[in-house]
Amino acid sequence: MPRSRRRRGNPPESAHDNVPGVGTIDELLANNRGFAESMPNGHLDVRPSRRLAIVTCMDSRLNVFEALGLRDGEAHVLRNAGGVITDDVIRSLAVSQRRLGTREVILIHHTDCGMQTLSDDGFRAELQEATGVAPAFAIESFTDLDADVRQSILRVRRSDFLLHTDVVRGFVYDTDTHRLREIETPA
Ligand SMILES: [Zn+2]
Repeated sequence: MPRSRRRRGNPPESAHDNVPGVGTIDELLANNRGFAESMPNGHLDVRPSRRLAIVTCMDSRLNVFEALGLRDGEAHVLRNAGGVITDDVIRSLAVSQRRLGTREVILIHHTDCGMQTLSDDGFRAELQEATGVAPAFAIESFTDLDADVRQSILRVRRSDFLLHTDVVRGFVYDTDTHRLREIETPA
C-alpha cells in the first residue's frame, strides 16, 4: 500500500521494519536532515505573530498547525493528556502572555480522547498499586467533553496570573471529520 493511501488506524509502514539496528528515532533524524535541506534558513520572532496560544491534547491524530491553517511562528501550542488546564499550563500561558505577547487563548478537546478511557480513582489506584506511591498530581480524567471544555475555559478566565482572559474560546475537534465544534459558555 502506498504511504499516502495508508488506511487510518493502521500503524505506519516503517522503513526500519526490515533494517536491523535502525529504530524510529534514527529514522526521524534522517527525516530531519531532509527537512532542513528543504527549508530556507531564516529567523522568526520568538513572539507568536498571531498573538495566540492554543491548549490541546497530546493526541497523535490532531495536527494543530494543519487543522487550523497555522504556520511556523504564529502561535504557541501547549499540549498534555486531555488538554487539561493544569498549574503547568497556567505557568506556560503566563509566560506566553506576559513575556511573549499573546492575547487570545483557544482550548481544543477532541472526540475519542484517551482521557475518557480512565477514571481518576481507578488510574490513581493503578499507579499506587504498581509503584507503592500515590501520585501527587491530579489525574483529570473526564467523560463529558463539552463540560470539561467549559471547565477549562473557566480555569483560564479566572486565573489571576494571566493578563488577557477576555478572548478564551473552547472547541471539540472531531478526529474523524476533522471539524471543530465551538462550545458555548456563559459570558
Ligand atoms: Zn486526547
